[in-house]
Amino acid sequence: MVITRKAEFSASHVCRVDSLSDKENRELFGEEAHPNGHGHNYILEVSVEGEIDPVTGMVMNLSDLREILDQEVVQPMDHRFLNKEVPPFDRTIPTVENIAIEIWKLISPSLSKPPAKLHAVRVYETPDLYVDYFGDAR
Ligand SMILES: [Zn+2]
Repeated sequence: MVITRKAEFSASHVCRVDSLSDKENRELFGEEAHPNGHGHNYILEVSVEGEIDPVTGMVMNLSDLREILDQEVVQPMDHRFLNKEVPPFDRTIPTVENIAIEIWKLISPSLSKPPAKLHAVRVYETPDLYVDYFGDAR
């Protein structure tokens, strides 16, 4: 069974490649490249998979999952300028793709063994744009 918990955080970012000109960055990233940054209300959906415990009827205690998301993702990223305040985004472009990979790295150590293993990280950057990450750079 796969069970999913949602969390939200607001953060700002700039998407640009330093070695490219302003014009090239604008062509590549559009408004995302504006040097002063802009914000998004990110929505995170984290799915864990496991077998249902016959005694509790649960895959895992979902308040434990909320605590992991809060400590590893929401507290460090909420109301931050990702490029300046949240490593590795001082050197990795904080596209929604890279944000999903980073969140996977942050939470997977806490969700690496039974009863519940990390299955997917979904990050919405806008209501109509999201990425799914399943680990191993896929
Ligand atoms: Zn953006």
